[in-house]
Amino acid sequence: MPYVFDPAPHTAVPVAGEDRQFPVHRIYCVGRNYAAHAREMGFDPEREPPFFFCKPADAACFPANGKSLILPYPSETSNFHHEVELVAALGLGGTHIAVEDALRHIWGYAIGLDMTRRDLQMGARKMGRPWEIGKAFDQSAVLGPIHPSSALPATPAQVDILLKVNGEVRQHSQLDKLIWSIAETIAHLSRYFELQPGDLLYTGTPEGVAAVVPGDHLEASISGLGTLSVDISGS
Ligand code: MN
Repeated sequence: MPYVFDPAPHTAVPVAGEDRQFPVHRIYCVGRNYAAHAREMGFDPEREPPFFFCKPADAACFPANGKSLILPYPSETSNFHHEVELVAALGLGGTHIAVEDALRHIWGYAIGLDMTRRDLQMGARKMGRPWEIGKAFDQSAVLGPIHPSSALPATPAQVDILLKVNGEVRQHSQLDKLIWSIAETIAHLSRYFELQPGDLLYTGTPEGVAAVVPGDHLEASISGLGTLSVDISGS
């Protein structure tokens, strides 16, 4: 049966060094998954179960071919924050995935920025309202090209995650500081949702989140995954 209008094109992210693209199904994000970041947000980083929020698939945005992404400063905020994160890209779905079995569901990894209207998120949090206007707005899910999972060193302690703004280090940590490992996070999430190939998982940000303004240049890097460059433009 014909559509009443043409459907939007499917969101797809470039794969590093290939002509193929990774088709995006859903975008899941983990909240407060590094202890020092939980503390800076005013929480006790006990090992409470991981919690999740989502962004729409078409919030994904990425630079064209090795260039810097021009990211417009979003509307209705005066506190636009960066959160550098490792993104796991699933190639296999499932429910009730076991921790020991979880990593083979990952097709690859990317550098991500969970861009956040912090003022709107905090306002919603205070009133017990949903986070969408703070977290799930257009172009809020920035990521670099997806690298096959073999690109990431196997030892998390050796994987640096770093964000510089205008050349100055703002966020710097290692993946072994994750409260919930990537495998544990996938296992937990799969109890609540049927995961699908194409799902992206933003695994949480380390400490040092802060505001950016138009004119700022961001460079995010993760060992093995290269660098993601973003320039914030005026709204
Ligand atoms: Mn985040």
